[in-house]
Amino acid sequence: MPEGPEIRRAADKVAAVLVGEKIEKVEFGLEHLKPFESRMSGCTVTAVDTRGKAMLTRFDNRLTIYSHNQLYGRWYTVRRSRMPQTQRQLRVALCTNTHQALLYSASDIAVLDEDELSTHPFLRRAGPDILDRGLTQPKIAERLQAVEFRNRALGNLYLDQAFLAGNGNYLRSEILWAAGIDPLRKAVSLAPTECDTLARETLKIAWRSYRSGGVTVTRALASRLRAEGVSREDYRFYVFGREGKRCRRCGSMIERRKMGSRNLFTCRRCQPAG
Ligand SMILES: [Zn+2]
Repeated sequence: MPEGPEIRRAADKVAAVLVGEKIEKVEFGLEHLKPFESRMSGCTVTAVDTRGKAMLTRFDNRLTIYSHNQLYGRWYTVRRSRMPQTQRQLRVALCTNTHQALLYSASDIAVLDEDELSTHPFLRRAGPDILDRGLTQPKIAERLQAVEFRNRALGNLYLDQAFLAGNGNYLRSEILWAAGIDPLRKAVSLAPTECDTLARETLKIAWRSYRSGGVTVTRALASRLRAEGVSREDYRFYVFGREGKRCRRCGSMIERRKMGSRNLFTCRRCQPAG
């Protein structure tokens, strides 16, 4: 399932063909959005932003296409003359004179004006995007210690989109392992240096995954493992999905637990109970 880094990469692709371009044709596959087609055709896309799993395609007439990637939504960007080979249902088509961005299958799509953007239930509740360029280590550390978050087990907090939008299941395991923090601990119990380390690793792992296309281990480690003949599936993570395998830091056995009804992977030696 896509997490913040995957959504941001999809948004980058859409932005590359749409931003600054006049959209000659707008088509919606959902009946209730059809009235917007004529209002948006001929307008220019100014930005493609993300907020966790939500993508916001902004137009210069102050309307925004909100698309929330539930499970199967997928954007394709192709030249105008091509259509992707897919059996999926077309939900949104945005065509410039050379390219088109096509959204298939996503179910939660809306066209919002400025007021609706500020009152939208998901957007109002969601925290800052984990890949927001303004999100700094001190800001995350401060957020961890905020009254509404500091008494929550970190393993649960790191799935909550209200804390950081775009955080998700693999990022949670990888970030907590990298910071050496037991997921049952609460931010309130962290020493200031632990809190800073967690904030730093949150950014580091999320950005590395974004840049590498889903690999959270360092580039050096990835190349070494690749050279040894290890497959991408087996080298891309530190702990996620590696139950029963050796910890890359200490050699202990990686364990799988359930938290927030999803699988969580840890090394008990690297992440001692607090
Ligand atoms: Zn370990």
